[in-house]
Amino acid sequence: MNFEFTDEELMLKKTIRKLTREVLEPAIKELGDDQPFSKEFVLRMFKEVKPFGFLGTTIPEEQGGAGLDIKTWALIYEELPYELKGYLGISPNMARTIAERGTDYHKEKFLPGLLSGDKIACSANTEPNVGSNPSEMQTTAVLDGDHYVINGTKTFITNGNLADYISVAVSFDRSKGGKGIGLILIDREDTPIESRKINLMGFNQGDLAELYFDNVRVPKENLIVPEGDGYKSKLKGFHAWRCFVATDANALAEKALNYSIQYVKEREQFGKKIGSFQLIQGMLADMKTEIDASKLLTYRALDMVNKGQHCRIETSMAKQFATEMAVRVTSKAIQIHGAYGLTSEFPVERLFRNAKILTIPEGTSQIQKLVIGRELTGKSAFR
Ligand SMILES: Cc1cc2nc3c(=O)[nH]c(=O)nc-3n(C[C@H](O)[C@H](O)[C@H](O)COP(=O)(O)OP(=O)(O)OC[C@H]3O[C@@H](n4cnc5c(N)ncnc54)[C@H](O)[C@@H]3O)c2cc1C
Repeated sequence: MNFEFTDEELMLKKTIRKLTREVLEPAIKELGDDQPFSKEFVLRMFKEVKPFGFLGTTIPEEQGGAGLDIKTWALIYEELPYELKGYLGISPNMARTIAERGTDYHKEKFLPGLLSGDKIACSANTEPNVGSNPSEMQTTAVLDGDHYVINGTKTFITNGNLADYISVAVSFDRSKGGKGIGLILIDREDTPIESRKINLMGFNQGDLAELYFDNVRVPKENLIVPEGDGYKSKLKGFHAWRCFVATDANALAEKALNYSIQYVKEREQFGKKIGSFQLIQGMLADMKTEIDASKLLTYRALDMVNKGQHCRIETSMAKQFATEMAVRVTSKAIQIHGAYGLTSEFPVERLFRNAKILTIPEGTSQIQKLVIGRELTGKSAFR
């Protein structure tokens, strides 16, 4: 397996790192730490990143996309500020689904706003009683004339308050379990959906919501993934997204290491820089080793996704290892900073909070281990 990146990939990464440092991070800082983003601000950020392909991603250029491959997209996504990743992961992903699976009507109605950066999307799967096992979905859609009538509640939905477009997973027939699930698109301007904000540790600038569907009527042509394909299409999407979350974790951990290296060169105790103490160096060595191991797992998994290879074990190992690694590394960064590390005046406590939440979405660490175990033994331990 060759982990060398092409000159073009490295150049792109460098360009995005510069954009992040010079434009995106200063704009976020100007708002003030941990201040929720307004819709206007998110759309402004969309416009900043649009020229680099973040909205059009893997959609072919002839369809108005950027024509990137998954690996290149992930490599540049890794360089974005953490605070923007929810917004800049989900909306482009809806655009991809529409470009790949949508009808002409879907493409005309939903694609232009997503590609131009004027619309925000969310993907609503999780429910109050249905987290790790989507096949038990309780939100239902029933055809009534020219409309589907949707009933249910979705929770922990990234971008759920600000989103203009919602992709909602529904069961058309609960007796069929996962085989009864499909996806329906909703334009909130035509079909208003009530929501409430959920406050989550480490996610203050993100938008997380509970969405309420109470006899919501949606035109039947908004069905994008029919009954039976919804579960399969979600599982397929997971492989790439697990790698994307792993890149988030790696980036956070790397930041924590860099802050720690800087700190140990400045902080003095016992008349010496703390960076000269062996136990401090030991922590830095463990951090660096874990980050590199995690990056190698992540890039290998990404490369396999990119090539369309069978990679369930590899993507689950990358997601599980990277996110748990980021918790360990950011925790060590706090330890290295002593009490200062626990204060909001230093960035590492924030990185720790950010890292912890990554062990939950796109399949918890436990679910990743069950996937790996199932692939190794041929036996499912999910139930
Ligand atoms: C930041 C963030 C963003 C999110 N964004 C979205 C979004 O945009 N759209 C969306 O639909 N959802 C989203 N989610 C929800 C996320 O997908 C769910 O939280 C996740 O699937 C887990 O479900 P749950 O929280 O209900 O936990 P549960 O499934 O209730 O799990 C609770 C615990 O039990 C463990 N567990 C469950 N089943 C098993 C088993 N078989 N064996 C062993 N252990 C098990 C889990 O690992 C966990 O430790 C988001 C969550 C977070 C934190």
